[in-house]
Amino acid sequence: MTKSISCKDAGKDCSWSASAKTESELMEKVTAHVKTDHKEIELTPENIAGIKSLIKES
Ligand SMILES: [Zn+2]
Repeated sequence: MTKSISCKDAGKDCSWSASAKTESELMEKVTAHVKTDHKEIELTPENIAGIKSLIKES
């Protein structure tokens, strides 16, 4: 199983996407990307829960 996420799924005009084997690994990548490219997004518990709801498994 691979977990993946993309900014497009979050409605962002951004071509970034990432995949990882575990949710925590994926969230580390997401956090790094948000801190770099989406500084306007606050990583509140609500936003993190919203991001996690966008994770796809394949
Ligand atoms: Zn992005």
